[in-house]
Amino acid sequence: MTPPLPLIDQFNRQITYLRLSVTDRCDLRCTYCMPEKMQFLPRAEVLRLEELYDLARGFMDRGITKIRLTGGEPLVRRDVMQLITALGRHVGNELEELTLTTNATQLARHAADLALAGIRRVNVSLDTLDRQTFARLTRRDRLDDVLAGIAAAQDAGMQVKINTVALRNTNERQLPDLIAWAHHCGCDITLIEAMPLGKIDEDRADHYLPLTAVLDDLERRWTCVPSAHVTGGPARYFDVVETGGRLGMITPLTNNFCSGCNRIRVTATGQLYPCLGGGEKVDLRAALRSGDPAGNLSTSLDMAMRIKPERHGFRIDRAGQTPAQPRHMSVTGG
Ligand code: SAM
Ligand code: SF4
Repeated sequence: MTPPLPLIDQFNRQITYLRLSVTDRCDLRCTYCMPEKMQFLPRAEVLRLEELYDLARGFMDRGITKIRLTGGEPLVRRDVMQLITALGRHVGNELEELTLTTNATQLARHAADLALAGIRRVNVSLDTLDRQTFARLTRRDRLDDVLAGIAAAQDAGMQVKINTVALRNTNERQLPDLIAWAHHCGCDITLIEAMPLGKIDEDRADHYLPLTAVLDDLERRWTCVPSAHVTGGPARYFDVVETGGRLGMITPLTNNFCSGCNRIRVTATGQLYPCLGGGEKVDLRAALRSGDPAGNLSTSLDMAMRIKPERHGFRIDRAGQTPAQPRHMSVTGG
């Protein structure tokens, strides 16, 4: 078998990681992610499950070894397990890993099948353990379902990593308890700075919390030792001596991480965005629906490599109320 022609951008970064959004819809409405009355993409524009599979296959042919399914909420897509099962067959061959980012509201129902399909790790987004804060932040009272989902995933043998967006005046004071809880449950946890993606009902400047301030606060409480752990992702890690767990920090605004970027993102409608924070895109749906899907897909991926920008241009300030990117994270795939 000839080795796949690698995807290398003009800054000599090899792209091996695809984040594939299977839907932009969601059963929560996190206030920092989307407005209450979110306009979702027209269903007719969303790729069919078979098309998503063909797309992923085309990426594997170009050296993608890790796929993360995301959204919106991937588990709200009907029959998504069919896609996951089909992709799972490539784990151990073309794919080193197939993973999922989920809000975990429906994870309890799917955990056993996900594990069976070859998923060994899931990222669960959880910003608070306080029921009222959860209901206010997600606009839905579903904390119990999320906690049951996390427990079910662990029972099924999957590693769970918690992702938490740090938000001023919302979960700011709860972060130490959340970190301690995650470590107690055997989960790594990563804190993320809120990014200016898409219009929301609130002013992002009101809840933006730089992680430099959070780390200062945590270091007054705990011994946070910079960790040698690297994942190829944007997080920097610390070992927290007192809890015995690992804490990641994703700091797109206070500390740019673009030089080591190895990833690209595709929306549920087949739009490839080479940078989360950039407007550049390539239409893969057109390639997929052309007379020569495999050939045109591969050519489109080469084009994406030529336009992938060197770095994002995120900034949050009151003067610039317009988001850095009009696309919501739920569209591009977080
Ligand atoms: N619904 C799934 C979930 O919440 O895990 C997957 C999609 S969600 C868009 C992926 C991640 O993006 C979540 O961890 C969420 O907290 C994060 N996210 C959403 N909007 C964000 C923003 N504006 N800035 C930073 N992170 C954001
Ligand atoms: Fe849904 Fe995830 Fe966005 Fe929350 S962060 S609204 S769970 S897509």
